[in-house]
Amino acid sequence: MYDLVIKGGTVVTSTDSVKTDLAVKNGRISAIGDDLTSESVIDAREKLIMPGCIDSHTHMSLPVGINCSSDDFYTGTVAAACGGITSIIDFSVGDPARSIPEDIRLRMKEARDSVIDYSFHGEVLGWKLGHEEEFREAVEMGITSFKFYTSYAASGRRSDSGILYNAFKEIARLGAVAIVHAEDENLIESILSGMSEQDLGRMENLAVSRPDLCEGSAIDQVAFYAEQTGARLHIVHVSSALGVDRIGFAAERGVLVSGETCPQYLLLTRDVYKGSQGHFFSASPALRESVDQDVLWDALKYGLIGFVVTDHCPFTKQQKEWKGSFLNLPYGLPGVETMLSLLYSEGVEKGRLSINDLVRISSEHCARTFGLYPQKGSISIGADADLVIFDPKVKWVIRAGDLHMNTDFSPYEGREINGKVEHTLSRGEVIVKNGSFCGNAGRGHFIARKI
Ligand SMILES: [Zn+2]
Repeated sequence: MYDLVIKGGTVVTSTDSVKTDLAVKNGRISAIGDDLTSESVIDAREKLIMPGCIDSHTHMSLPVGINCSSDDFYTGTVAAACGGITSIIDFSVGDPARSIPEDIRLRMKEARDSVIDYSFHGEVLGWKLGHEEEFREAVEMGITSFKFYTSYAASGRRSDSGILYNAFKEIARLGAVAIVHAEDENLIESILSGMSEQDLGRMENLAVSRPDLCEGSAIDQVAFYAEQTGARLHIVHVSSALGVDRIGFAAERGVLVSGETCPQYLLLTRDVYKGSQGHFFSASPALRESVDQDVLWDALKYGLIGFVVTDHCPFTKQQKEWKGSFLNLPYGLPGVETMLSLLYSEGVEKGRLSINDLVRISSEHCARTFGLYPQKGSISIGADADLVIFDPKVKWVIRAGDLHMNTDFSPYEGREINGKVEHTLSRGEVIVKNGSFCGNAGRGHFIARKI
């Protein structure tokens, strides 16, 4: 006897869409086929059944200067579940006084209240040559990807060439993944040095100060180190056509490189900075132009950019209060609750993606990249029953006040959307029912990832 049967929905994978039943037992998918029965049934006629989304780029409870991102692991994962996300990969918070494994152990305590499964990338901050065993120990803990920044020297996050090259060598030896925030900070600094106080007081100059040139230059640099060391490289939040071009250039010559983008780079442009609310959109990389959006959609369709994540790093309007310069703002946008509906509405409904592409870019490819597949990101017998039941017919309007994310700002406020999450299942348990969260704090499991 099955624990639960989802009846009559269209089961969507990255390759197929089939109208059939799906059964769950002991938290896993145990049968897919017609006429399955159970005492517990969800009627999914006219609905899509997809693997729960995997968001490998979130920043819950992230200290940023005097602020902290406004979602903790409980509120942020409740919002994620309501948006159809069933696993997140967040980041440890590096400190030069601690080792990478110590950072990870601390972060595990902070994440205890998560309502969905979670893992971390190990943030590399203040790492020193000769401490290679930190990477090995982290991999043994199930942390198989490590985050580097080529910018943010002021907060100690920037890794110089020596650190990048030597850490990549060890990461290659272990078979782990080097993930990089790629912006050339020397270029950014040179542009900023030419700006007056008045220039810094104009929000739209955020985009001028961090152009696509900076992204392209930094991708070239880290791709060169990946090429020399054999490390697998993943570029986070690719924002520009030039960034896509440089990833393509590296991939063509055999570098093991992948990339992700985010809804904000697919759907918003730098024009939003000109409005009276422009400062609420502060983020890095900065928002680009419509030509960049077209290239990013194409890159997703054809696989050069593997998947979409949120870079969820919310702040309230008060935290983003304008203080005279775009340099004085916390950078980051909310996104976990709206990603899937936005990708369906703007991607599938507008013909930029097929429904099967949507599954590939919102779960499967991410799971494959970060060692979660096929336990996660797959509708197959034995996979975790992490599922989203999605109603493509519901029309709704995004309002920050209606959402669970702990912020009063949405970058998509007022946008009309087709398609909404109806139910979300995590390891077979219904944690979102008819759009309302019904799970418990702390039910999420830490996922030890594989190489
Ligand atoms: Zn980020």
